[in-house]
Amino acid sequence: MKKFFPVLSRDKATSSVNLEASETQHPSESIKVVDYELLETDPGIRPPISSYHPDIQNEVRKAYLKIGRHKPPYNFVYPWSVQGNQRRRFCKNWFDLYDWIDYSESKDLAFCLPCFLFKNVSKYGGDHFVTEGFGDWKNSHRLANHGTSSISHIDCVHMSYALMNPNQSIKAAFVNQTKQMNSEYRVRVNTSLIATKFLLRCGMPFRGSDESFNSLFKGPFLELVDTLKEINPEITKVINYAPGNNFMTALKIQKDLAAACACEITKQIVCDIADDVFCVLIDESGDVAGKEQMVVVIHYVNSDGLVKERFLGIVSVKETSAKSLKEALEKLLSINGLSLSSIRGARI
Ligand SMILES: [Zn+2]
Repeated sequence: MKKFFPVLSRDKATSSVNLEASETQHPSESIKVVDYELLETDPGIRPPISSYHPDIQNEVRKAYLKIGRHKPPYNFVYPWSVQGNQRRRFCKNWFDLYDWIDYSESKDLAFCLPCFLFKNVSKYGGDHFVTEGFGDWKNSHRLANHGTSSISHIDCVHMSYALMNPNQSIKAAFVNQTKQMNSEYRVRVNTSLIATKFLLRCGMPFRGSDESFNSLFKGPFLELVDTLKEINPEITKVINYAPGNNFMTALKIQKDLAAACACEITKQIVCDIADDVFCVLIDESGDVAGKEQMVVVIHYVNSDGLVKERFLGIVSVKETSAKSLKEALEKLLSINGLSLSSIRGARI
């Protein structure tokens, strides 16, 4: 069955397109329709990949890879040429030695199929195995060098393999690995988040006096995580086999999760006020270290007509003067998107 790709003109004018000029061809001027069964296979006269429209270049590459390397008929007589004081010519067994080599009967030159296909997208560029062709039969060791030492060639071979085997390429392997790692990371974060939300709702402490591995009671947070692991073997597997720095149960993670919960709750409270007025209840006291702190609670009527009393935050203040408390209150309200002008009463 015919497969229709961008139509490749078979006339000599198109086939012998100027290679260098085509490298800079604008996409709008490039070949957009090709019948891949009519692709020019002679490497000496086939148009460069860059002459095709970018949208179909991969299809053309796949077509060339399916066709394979261009080899003359079995009975083809390779022409002799005088190089130095000896007659030389292309050797048939190079097709067996080098699995990338192409031969052009029209130009009596060797080319490289992977480099031809990917030169325009390889970050290493290409060489004369793509554009000029190789005819220096006397220095045939350069063929071996091209296959083993050319970074550009190796890059193009990898891209050829990846194009025909998308699920087995290194890039695909990285993507699959990243997806799995992301999935496992989310399981660990969600487990810690469930434990955090439970403890916050109960108003319980997180830490234990002995959180070591062999401790009989590691504290509410770690004990709750262990309980969730017992309930769900998938969580056990993901957490137990996690990298040492990615258990998502460290103290800093606990604090971050608690802060995230507080932020979400405060946002919900502010949303509940809905630009309406409210009153504030403020109290202050010193902590055990002697630092003065101010606690702010707000009263408001929500959209259902119910009176709500919600804790808004606790902030450190330098002193307990009215000016200092006002500045701290204004700052706290500002952080949460509220305004002093909406206050309709205060109890201090
Ligand atoms: Zn090559």
